[in-house]
This record gives sequence, structure tokens and C-alpha cells, in this order.
Amino acid sequence: MDMPLPVTADAPIFDPRGFRLSPFEAELTARAREFGARILAPRAARWDREASFPTDNYDDMRREGWLGICIPRADGGMGADFRAYCLAAAEFGRYCGATALTWNMHVCSTLWTGLLTDDLEMDAATRALHHDRRKLHYANILERGAVFSQPFSEGGAAAAGTVAFGTTATPVEGGFRINGKKIFASLSGHADCYGILCTEVQGEAKLSRRDTLYLAIPKDAPGVSVEGEWDPLGMRGTVSRNLIFKDVFVPESAALMPPGLYFQAASRWPHMFMTLTPTYMGLAQAAYDFTVRYLRGEQPGTPPVKRRMYPTKQIAVAEMRIMLEQTKALWFQAISEAGPDPSKEQMLRALAAQNTVMENANALAAKAVRTCGGQAMLKTLPLERIYRDSRCGSLMLPWTAELCVDRIGRDALYEKGEAD
Ligand SMILES: Cc1cc2nc3c(=O)[nH]c(=O)nc-3n(C[C@H](O)[C@H](O)[C@H](O)COP(=O)(O)OP(=O)(O)OC[C@H]3O[C@@H](n4cnc5c(N)ncnc54)[C@H](O)[C@@H]3O)c2cc1C
Repeated sequence: MDMPLPVTADAPIFDPRGFRLSPFEAELTARAREFGARILAPRAARWDREASFPTDNYDDMRREGWLGICIPRADGGMGADFRAYCLAAAEFGRYCGATALTWNMHVCSTLWTGLLTDDLEMDAATRALHHDRRKLHYANILERGAVFSQPFSEGGAAAAGTVAFGTTATPVEGGFRINGKKIFASLSGHADCYGILCTEVQGEAKLSRRDTLYLAIPKDAPGVSVEGEWDPLGMRGTVSRNLIFKDVFVPESAALMPPGLYFQAASRWPHMFMTLTPTYMGLAQAAYDFTVRYLRGEQPGTPPVKRRMYPTKQIAVAEMRIMLEQTKALWFQAISEAGPDPSKEQMLRALAAQNTVMENANALAAKAVRTCGGQAMLKTLPLERIYRDSRCGSLMLPWTAELCVDRIGRDALYEKGEAD
């Protein structure tokens, strides 16, 4: 990336100087912000109104290289690491929540198979095979423009990480036969490949989380179908319908990670689940940005009436700013220390950051609606969409806002092996 930095009206969420971003991060986030303002923002209302998938955005993202943000540079991608990706994705989320969230599902298929697995243990032969396979996976994205999704949820306790996935992969000659159902499968009918989590069947043995497989299922594979309506409160452009797999065959090369590696990643690289937060960090910033613009009489689509002179408005904005800074500071720390084998302190902080971003994004949006008033929540303006989209963050498994609280309370009070 050696072109001059683009100029946009909005200031960076994370000022490169203040947060000491690397030159690469500064440039990447500037580009993400420019892309968000130019491409994502003008179209966001349409996907929301129609509950339709942002296909046009993906065409532009493909053209401008964003599908390969976390693919290593040696393989032709942008080479963003975990933090650089999170910072760029927050800028996307600021302009279109549904695009940022679905893009995250796609990016995880490259981040988890790349940087994350590089930190995990496997023998030399397994690593060599994994590298060969992921090269094909990356080429599929960069050369053929393939988009991946990440359907894990099944409606039971599996997506929370407590039991094995009920979707099964039965070993057959040359590959696996997949059976099961996924709910809330963002990008259903629109991704080229579904990156599913399922459990490898080991004879008669009970299904085990240790046997979780991460497999790429082509959208058009015989036995794959999409069902159900999609007409939700928020994040409407994600098109998260149900996916059915009925005796779907995939070859062994469909494995995005070697056997056992997903289980290892979930235990040893738990910040991987924070990848759902950047979208909501961006929405939190968007709620604040809107409020400042609106009170200054500068929000496009509204009359130039100033409301900033009222002390109550000033106090509300001050409270919003304090909450935004608290959210940013904790989140920035957590994404900065993401890596293998975090300490207990780092783990507690990651859970606290996840809870904070997801809860505060919606709290800030709610406060923005109250502060700006009735004219500000008309559907012709972005605030009410931000309000609805931001409501969805705390529901995302495995680290829902509630489950973060559960774990923080328990893990803060008990050391390993302790019980009452
Ligand atoms: C817009 C949107 C897009 C989504 N996209 C995807 C996607 O692409 N892929 C995907 O896999 N999923 C996706 N999800 C699903 C999401 O991750 C959750 O699985 C889903 O919101 C859970 O809904 P549920 O009613 O089945 O939750 P339930 O499992 O019924 O849980 C309800 C609540 O109970 C609590 N709870 C759950 N399990 C436990 C437990 N073991 N102990 C204590 N409390 C618990 C949690 O706080 C949870 O919020 C999406 C969700 C939304 C809203």
C-alpha cells in the first residue's frame, strides 16, 4: 500500500498518534474509513430496509482487496494481524453494521486458518498439509473472489462452547458426509462457501468437543439448502437464515483446520471470539458521531438547527464521550494483548471488553436517541438503524454479554481446581 492516505471528513476512531498505531495500522484504518464513508454509508439504509444482502458492497470489497485483509502478504493478501484487522473492521462497522458483521464471518476463515493456527501446536507433517490447504483456500478468495460464512449456532448449548456440535461429519471414503442444521447463518444463500463447525463421528463413541472440525461446504453442494424467513429487529442485511445439510459430501481437503485444531484454538487463543466486537465498536462511535453532528445542526438530511447551546445536551454528550472513551480504552487494550495462552488477568479483561463493547454500543445508541429527540429517529436518518443494529451485539455466542458476566464472576473468585 504505497498510495497517499485518503482524506475523509470523520476523524479516526483510534487516532494513530494517540494510540501509537503502527504505520501499517494507520494506513489500513484510514483506507477502511474512506471505504466506509464512500461505499458503505450511502447504501446501508437499503440493506436494512429490504433485509437484503449487501452484494454490491462485496463486489467493491472484492475489487479493492478487502476480502484478503488477513491473508498473509506472501500469499497475496493485505497481511493484517488480529489488532490491525479489528481496528479496520471497527471503521467498517461505523458505516454499515451488517456489512462489517458479515465481513467478519468471512475474515475469520482466513485469520483463524492463518495467524491463529501459526501459534498452535501441530506436528511438521500436519502443518505442511495445513499450509498446502490454506494456500488453496486463500487462492479461492483472492483469485476467484470466494466469500465465506461462519455458521456455528444450532440453537442448543454447542455455540456457547459447552457441548459438542450436533452437526456431524461422518468419515467416508475420501472425505466426510455432513448432516445437521445451523441457525442464524449470516450470509446464507450469499456466501460461496459455508465454513461450518461440526463434530467428527468416531464410531459409536459419544460426540466430543475435541473432535470439532472446521469444514468448508460449497454453497451449491448437493444436500445443502437454506430455509426460513429473515425479518429481524436489527442487522437485517446479514440475512441469517437456517442452513440444512443432508448427506452432503465434502472431500478431506475441505478441512480449514486440521482435526483437533479448533478445540486447541478455542482453549489456547480465546481472543478469537472477540472478532465479533469491532462491528459494535464502530456502531458505538457512529452513535456518538451522529449526536455531535445533529446537535451542531450539521447532520445531512436535517434542517441546520443547532441544539448544542442547551446545558442538558452538553451534559448528555459529555456522558456519551466518557462512555465511548472507556469503551475504546478497554477494547484497545484487549485487542492489543490478544495472543496464545493468555494469563488469567488477560482473559478477564477480554471478557470485560467484550461485554463492555456489546452493552455500551447499544447504551450509547439509546442515549443518542434520547438526546437528539424525535426528529432524529426517523427512518430517513441512520440513528434508528444504529440503535437496532447495536442491540444485537450482546446476543452473539459464545461470548454473549450474560455469559461474559458469568465467567468473569466465577473466574475472579475461583482459582483452577477450587470448588465449594
Ligand atoms: C444478527 C445476528 C447474526 C448472527 N450470525 C451468526 C452467524 O453468522 N453464525 C453463527 O453461528 N451464529 C450467528 N448468530 C447467532 C448468535 O451467535 C447466537 O447463537 C444467537 O443469537 C443465540 O440465540 P438463541 O436464542 O438460540 O440463544 P440461546 O442459546 O437460547 O441463549 C439465550 C441466552 O441465554 C444465555 N445462555 C446461552 N447458553 C448459556 C449457558 N450455557 N449458560 C448460561 N447462559 C447461557 C445467553 O446469554 C444467550 O444470550 C447471529 C445472531 C444474530 C442476532
